[in-house]
Amino acid sequence: MELRDFGTAGVQVPVIGQGTWNMERDRRRAIAALRRGIDLGMTHIDTAEMYGGGGVEELVGEAIAGRREEVFLASKVLPSNASRRGTIQSCERTLRRLQTDWLDLYLLHWTSQHPLEDTIAAFEELEQAGKLRAFGVSNFDVDEMRRAVAVAPGRIACNQVLYHLGERTIEHAVISFCERYGIAVVAYSPFGQGDFPSTSPVLEEIAHARGLTPRQVALRFLVRRGSVVTIPKAVRIEHVEENAGAGDAVLSDDEVARIDVAFPLGLPRRGVPLL
Ligand code: NAP
Repeated sequence: MELRDFGTAGVQVPVIGQGTWNMERDRRRAIAALRRGIDLGMTHIDTAEMYGGGGVEELVGEAIAGRREEVFLASKVLPSNASRRGTIQSCERTLRRLQTDWLDLYLLHWTSQHPLEDTIAAFEELEQAGKLRAFGVSNFDVDEMRRAVAVAPGRIACNQVLYHLGERTIEHAVISFCERYGIAVVAYSPFGQGDFPSTSPVLEEIAHARGLTPRQVALRFLVRRGSVVTIPKAVRIEHVEENAGAGDAVLSDDEVARIDVAFPLGLPRRGVPLL
């Protein structure tokens, strides 16, 4: 499994990790899937206090029991909880549910009505207490990123954002902004939350020629820039194994260009934040 520098956070993470949204629906299989994923090197596990009302953090805690040191564990505070005191309380609850003493990464799930200064002050306090190792944001557009960088220069480890073949908006400005400031991009919903173009002739042709699957080709397209890693979610073991199988493939410039034509980026939408 290829490892990448996580922005300027001073750690490396696997290019393909594991998402956990909705995993509470299938608890037993989810735990087995996460464990298999760790075995295969997908050690970046992304969760959130929001998922299953805390139930997903609990199952993640069970999945990583005895293997904490192997895992790069990320969770997120809900914007409504992201006051200075609320962030600390949320983090404490998250740590209890995950049965761990620390998070490798703690994110603000999306922009909050609480001042960003307060959320970041709480992140820094948690960091000083050894309860988290890095922090970042999620669903921030360029204007919001600019503000985050102004509040915490050099401290924002990543921006976790929507990115799949049918939704490439972050390519307009968010990725390059993050690259300029040494901020990692974590691509979520890489399969469009179950809306994957599996019969695309271009994906099929490249997959066939390379001994990959269309989904593996798609994952490699999304991580073709060194600043991007991704976190597909899978509860089926065969899906976990397929996703991990994309961990070391590299697409040629020609293959990237063909996918780029088949799934065009499109123009920036007027009035829509450049997520
Ligand atoms: P996704 O990863 O794009 O898609 C998940 C769906 O794809 C599931 O139905 C899964 O099936 C299926 N799947 C996975 N691998 C497959 C494979 N190899 N072959 C066929 N089907 C496959 O969607 P997502 O869960 O929305 O996004 C991933 C993660 O990103 C989330 O779980 C969450 O951790 C994070 N996320 C963050 C935000 C945010 O606001 N920050 C928002 C959304 C998501 P099975 O489960 O049945 O295997």
